[in-house]
Amino acid sequence: MSTATPDPGEWGAGGDIRARLGARPVINLTGTLTGLGGISARPEAIAAAAAIMGKGVDIAELQAAASRVIAEVTGAEAGFVSACSAAGICMAIAGAMAGDRMAAIEQLPDTTGMRNEVVIQAGHLVNYGHPIAQDIRLTGARVVVVGAVNSSSEAELGGAIGPGTAAALYVVSHHCFPDGQIPFAAFAGICHDRGVKVIVDLAAEYDLTGFLREGADITIHSAHKFLGGATAGIVAGRKPLVRAAFLQNFGIARPMKVGKEGIAAAMAALRAFAAEDRAAARAALREPLLHWRDALAGIAGIRAELDPDPTGNPFDRLRITVLADAAFAAADVVRALEAGTPPIRVRTHQVGRGSFVLDARSLGAGECEIVAGRLLAALDEARRSTNRGPTDAAHAWKTERAEALRRWPDIGTGSGP
Ligand SMILES: *Cc1c(COP(=O)(O)O)cnc(C)c1O
Repeated sequence: MSTATPDPGEWGAGGDIRARLGARPVINLTGTLTGLGGISARPEAIAAAAAIMGKGVDIAELQAAASRVIAEVTGAEAGFVSACSAAGICMAIAGAMAGDRMAAIEQLPDTTGMRNEVVIQAGHLVNYGHPIAQDIRLTGARVVVVGAVNSSSEAELGGAIGPGTAAALYVVSHHCFPDGQIPFAAFAGICHDRGVKVIVDLAAEYDLTGFLREGADITIHSAHKFLGGATAGIVAGRKPLVRAAFLQNFGIARPMKVGKEGIAAAMAALRAFAAEDRAAARAALREPLLHWRDALAGIAGIRAELDPDPTGNPFDRLRITVLADAAFAAADVVRALEAGTPPIRVRTHQVGRGSFVLDARSLGAGECEIVAGRLLAALDEARRSTNRGPTDAAHAWKTERAEALRRWPDIGTGSGP
């Protein structure tokens, strides 16, 4: 093995790393989706991960250094880097149940003798790739649902809290039901009056400080989403709970460990993100979107418009809506984009209602023009597809993807999951 520190770009020389490993290069217009490896990491994070890979380091010491960076950037008392947000949620919940008692830490997920209920609003029981309720149950805790999907009241929250409550989980995400949820400050106030710790899942949210200021005991962000790090999570908050969550590394979080490369990359990404000019970054991200919007101007049957982030994060996407009187469905355009070479993957959360969304945050060099041309070609192809309503077309497309996943690893080179 070479002792020289490799140049992070070296592996890419002489061909695309993905092709050399046997996977097709993909143009990622989902932004940060885990299924596409998260965001394309920023150079500072790539360099930090590469630099530490060949070195020995005491992980507890590295995590203590990460705690200082996290505290500096978020205003929290302490923090650590987890394997991902899902791991951070599990660790925070387990920490709220077991505290710093080693015997309790090693006993989980058997919660005998511990408070083991986690309250969560029904409208926050999202599926972000798996059901978030499973993060709660993985620790041994029990899910206590507050209210109904479109309506949770402060009285219902108060009623759900009892002597067995270990923590409350609050989720901020475009996946959450948009109406009828308890605002964060009121939610945190009720929990704190009853001595219940508040854990906030902010995996994809740019706000690193506001929820801690408003009373969150612990917040969780993904490092491989907007921050531009390697796959990891940023856990930040009040020191005793952060410490208790960190100690889960010697309990149920052992199978959720983050490596030194993930920690180093997260530290570099946090620093770079904090130093970035948000308005300039937003303007730069708009350029490819406006280019695609112009390329689609005058095309019959669709509307293309800038789409500000639905939870108020400071960036835009381009939404392409297939109009109701068009003779093709949004899902048919998505299928054509995915089936071409290179595959182009877009955000499809509302494809059943006739639209899909382009996110430029992971757009690679030279990909902007390719996307413009492929959008026009995909629209042409969709016009030749069987005429179905948007919901049926979306259902058919989703079924194909689910079936392809069940054939793994024999998924061939067609449109994979
Ligand atoms: C992405 C996401 C997660 C999971 O994040 P990972 O870091 O990929 O585990 C959790 N919650 C929400 C709301 C998300 O969007």
